[in-house]
Amino acid sequence: VKATGTGPERVETLVVGGGIGGLATALALSREGMPVCVLEQAHEFGEIGAGIQLAPNALRMLERLGLVDRIAANAFYPRKAVLMSAVTGERLTGLDFGVRFRETYGYPYIVMHRSDLLAALLDACRASPLVTLCNDRMVHGLGQGAEEVVVACADGSTYRARAVVGADGIWSAVRRFTVGDDEPVRSRDVAYRDTVPIEAVPEHSGLDVVWWAGPRMHLIQYPIRRGELLNQVAVFTSDRYGTDSEDWGTPEELEERFGAKHEHVRAGVRLIGRDRRWLLHDREPVDNWTRGRVTLLGDAAHPMLQYLAQGACMALEDAVCLADSLRAQADDPAKAFLDYQRERIPRTSKAQRWARRMGELVHLDGMGALLRDLVLRDRADDDFTYVDWLYGYGAWE
Ligand SMILES: Cc1cc2nc3c(=O)[nH]c(=O)nc-3n(C[C@H](O)[C@H](O)[C@H](O)COP(=O)(O)OP(=O)(O)OC[C@H]3O[C@@H](n4cnc5c(N)ncnc54)[C@H](O)[C@@H]3O)c2cc1C
Repeated sequence: VKATGTGPERVETLVVGGGIGGLATALALSREGMPVCVLEQAHEFGEIGAGIQLAPNALRMLERLGLVDRIAANAFYPRKAVLMSAVTGERLTGLDFGVRFRETYGYPYIVMHRSDLLAALLDACRASPLVTLCNDRMVHGLGQGAEEVVVACADGSTYRARAVVGADGIWSAVRRFTVGDDEPVRSRDVAYRDTVPIEAVPEHSGLDVVWWAGPRMHLIQYPIRRGELLNQVAVFTSDRYGTDSEDWGTPEELEERFGAKHEHVRAGVRLIGRDRRWLLHDREPVDNWTRGRVTLLGDAAHPMLQYLAQGACMALEDAVCLADSLRAQADDPAKAFLDYQRERIPRTSKAQRWARRMGELVHLDGMGALLRDLVLRDRADDDFTYVDWLYGYGAWE
């Protein structure tokens, strides 16, 4: 399908947005024999130069998409996630990703470069005759009739589709059509992230996902690209937050907040670039994100703070669930979309809420932090009680 500008192109299913969620959806639909077209606003498909954690629930979906072997080639398999005090350097607790973990969930916990994940999805989409990929298509308007949806792009091209999936991220244009005018919720948290050659950080643990937690701040470190690079994400809750100004969460504030922390934390943060920062947002969970033949997926549907490292994992789950629903209700996309959101909303809403709580827990200060550390010290590393609901999704059916 190629938009010519002479008239609307007719497509089966149109996916708006070619990030992890959009490309996974296109691939999942094509694997069910359904033709699909992806409209991406950017000139090229791509991801930022940072790492991503993928838990067993995501690996289970990547298996369904036929990508587990390809992913394994570039992934890193950490031994554990470890929570350390960013103030004293003391180990607080851990989560063991060893044999029992793999046996329990059927898949490992992996970390990898985002662009390696996107490349795997993109190559698989390009290899499918059922997937059409279109760049430079910024969707800005939708209209719906009884039998089809009309989608208009900023360059004047228009498309007519039997069904539309908005996978266009947290600032989704499609969401304005399905949900209305709700706005992303700005947290006071800001992230700086970067990757460096692993030898540049002698103090890192090398084999684990390490969380350094301190008062209203944390640093995460983990190896990616088969262990050649170290990914680092430094996050803090800004003391200078103001709704009417962008002058908060600045590099100066980053220095102040990490300057007096444990030496390993300081050494790591020193190597993170200051030229870009991410102001972190989520949205309140909603009980409906579908309107007729138009639905949402991934961050467009349920953006969450990154504290559970589950936003992309949930988008992969969405993609497979949506394809299953459309296969089961091939004649009625509107019904398929309602089935899909009935399955997905309770789980993704819970993840949105837990992500906020996890952020609060990691960033505790004063007495709260003392009590947290006291409780965590007694936890066994192979106690999976709190992650079962997340990582076990679909494992025991
Ligand atoms: C600091 C940080 C760390 C994170 N770590 C993890 C982690 O370890 N594990 C994990 O699972 N998740 C993590 N996440 C969350 C994860 O990055 C997101 O949930 C995930 O990338 C969302 O994918 P998506 O495809 O839904 O949206 P996006 O990645 O936002 O993709 C949306 C796509 O749509 C395109 N687009 C937007 N508007 C339009 C339009 N109008 N028309 C056409 N195209 C459009 C965009 O250009 C983009 O390509 C993290 C997030 C942050 C901020």
